[in-house]
Amino acid sequence: MMKIGLYIHIPFCQQKCLYCDFPSHANLTHLYQPYVAALCQEISGIGGVLSGDIVDSIYIGGGTPTVLSAKSLGQILQHVHTHFSVAKTAEFSIEANPGTIDKEKLLVLQAGGVNRISFGVQTFSDPLLSSIGRIHSAAQAIESVKMAQQVGFSNINVDLMYGLPGQTIQQLEDSILKAAELNVTHISAYGLKVEDGTPFATLQDEGTLMLPDEDEDDAMYELTTQLLPQKGFRRYEISNFAKNGYKCTHNLKYWQYQPYIGVGAAAHSFFKKERLANQSDVLSYIETIASGQLPIKVREVPEIRIAMAEYVFLALRTVTGLSVENFNQYFSDDFFGQYSHVIKTLIEKKLIIATEKEIYLTPIGMKYGNIVFGAFLPE
Ligand code: SF4
Repeated sequence: MMKIGLYIHIPFCQQKCLYCDFPSHANLTHLYQPYVAALCQEISGIGGVLSGDIVDSIYIGGGTPTVLSAKSLGQILQHVHTHFSVAKTAEFSIEANPGTIDKEKLLVLQAGGVNRISFGVQTFSDPLLSSIGRIHSAAQAIESVKMAQQVGFSNINVDLMYGLPGQTIQQLEDSILKAAELNVTHISAYGLKVEDGTPFATLQDEGTLMLPDEDEDDAMYELTTQLLPQKGFRRYEISNFAKNGYKCTHNLKYWQYQPYIGVGAAAHSFFKKERLANQSDVLSYIETIASGQLPIKVREVPEIRIAMAEYVFLALRTVTGLSVENFNQYFSDDFFGQYSHVIKTLIEKKLIIATEKEIYLTPIGMKYGNIVFGAFLPE
């Protein structure tokens, strides 16, 4: 019997945010029902295969899962409970966007065992929200969090972003303070990365995307990483901060190299050391399931040096870092034998701290994680 995480992908959004390259699509409302039917079919099939395993964390992400109706959400939850053995203590999260949630949906989620809601807020500045293509106002974000709390959800995350075009330090500080005042348990704070293929990338190519300069970006990073702990949110991963007892256990599974199964279009799985990815095109996903086939597009066991690098940089994302003993056990190998030269260089650059038992990022390493992670990749 194995303990596994379950990820359920809902690839729909009301409108695409200008920075977003996630597998999510606007204007596909006509596919909501066929998608939910296909998803439920995939859940039944996989649940049958994994009947001896216990699901101890579930994460419904997207996209915006809460664009679906209360009825569709209820149908998905019912399938999960019918076809998987869900631990009584399982963390069960759903992503939601302000403006797509109401009391009826919240009650259905609660009845279906969801016990954690992650709200995509990004900023509490209305002009910034509209300039990055969000569908909601700051007031709607506050109202949504409060509505969830009134219904009885006590474990709530708010996503924030910094480094947005035109964002000031003052606006960022105001957003962090407003999120903290909402009495939420978790805050994820991400720096904007302009991703290829997004409208922001086009604007950047045209020279019209006014991003904060390097000094402002540094100041925003410092503010975020200092103010959140002052407000009771302890940093436990590069971009994640939680009150005591409220780390996201599902996301910890990813960083701790634990198994999880993903269902839905574009969902990824990591199971028995194999990485699998479902096809991302929503219509093809629906048609494949309808024809009785598996929607898996990629299936591979990563080459050992790649798997080791992946293991190391996922573990290093967390404040507790990498346990040398766990690494050695997992790969039946010797961590220092593999990486002594890399470790020496990274210590000299003050990017990591290494003892015999563990390796973790310094505060500078946390800021420049990508340099550290790149160093572990095979040449
Ligand atoms: S709501 Fe989230 S998933 Fe949807 S477009 Fe915006 S950032 Fe992307």
